[in-house]
Amino acid sequence: MKIVILDGYTLNPGDLSWEGLKALGDVTVYERTPSDKIIERAKDAEIVFTNKTPLTKQTFESLPSLKYVGVLATGYNVVDVIAAKDKGIVVTNIPTYGTSAVAQMTFALLLELCHHVGEHSSRVKQGAWSTCPDFCFWDYPLVELAGKTMGIIGFGRIGQAVAKIAQALGMNVAVYDAYEDKSLETDMLRYTTLENLLATADVISLHCPLFESTKGIINKASIAKMKDGVMIINTSRGPLIDENDLAMALKAGKVAGAAVDVLSAEPPTADNPLMHTENCIITPHIAWAPKESRQRLMDTAVDNLEKFLAKNPQNVVNK
Ligand code: NAD
Repeated sequence: MKIVILDGYTLNPGDLSWEGLKALGDVTVYERTPSDKIIERAKDAEIVFTNKTPLTKQTFESLPSLKYVGVLATGYNVVDVIAAKDKGIVVTNIPTYGTSAVAQMTFALLLELCHHVGEHSSRVKQGAWSTCPDFCFWDYPLVELAGKTMGIIGFGRIGQAVAKIAQALGMNVAVYDAYEDKSLETDMLRYTTLENLLATADVISLHCPLFESTKGIINKASIAKMKDGVMIINTSRGPLIDENDLAMALKAGKVAGAAVDVLSAEPPTADNPLMHTENCIITPHIAWAPKESRQRLMDTAVDNLEKFLAKNPQNVVNK
């Protein structure tokens, strides 16, 4: 059975093994596949894996052997799942693998905004401490989180993991979600309205999915409702934020700092407004990528294919 992995590099740049999939068929791994090479490479394959390589209706028309598409990610918007279903092609995803890693990264970003560890270390190595008349110096306001309010928009797996860490740091947590499960409330954690969250949070962290209804949820109007000096973290999806509006609010000081792991276009164009904004930390979509998370993703991809081959498919997104 021919198995083609169209864009395996980000999942496994060399520190994981493809052996689990190789045990199930004749595997060819491509690091990346440009759109005009998809059909040539996936020709005759019964099984195709994609992470971000788009698979459209037209592509499926040209791949008559194809029976299964394994998406190597949670989001499967790169695949036309309806067209796949029409052709009898089963599409699966990896529903969860990186909850702890994304929650951890949320705090890596927030703590960087609070302490500027990287910046201070650079300044020390440039000699700023050696020439300092005092025993210490700091170049940025330092922020203590205990007693402050963390506003979490989207209280699913990652939002809940973030809330646990926030409470461990002594923060109160205000949560907004489209669905409420009051049993998750604690003395330090309460559901609230979006309006109230925006008005009361010292830190706002985004953990809702990207839908038409959540696109631009952080924009000029919502920022205007926030506390002066709020900090904003985005480890979910770039288009949740109107980047022009956030850049203006950062420049005006309304938002004290922002830290984002995701942008509206990835990789970003040089004219992305956040790239030119001082108090904005940007990381290149790495929250999901610790080796432990990627191994979990790989294990689930293998398990998904095994179950499909055993005629008992799991994690199917186009039933
Ligand atoms: P999840 O499905 O467990 O949780 C999403 C939550 O958002 C749910 O509780 C849902 O009810 C809520 N929600 C849906 N619509 C909403 C709305 N309009 N307003 C408020 N809340 C709403 O998902 P998760 O595993 O917690 O992942 C959250 C997001 O994190 C994903 O959608 C993905 O975009 C992102 N993510 C990013 C990375 C990364 O590497 N940066 C990795 C994994 C996931």
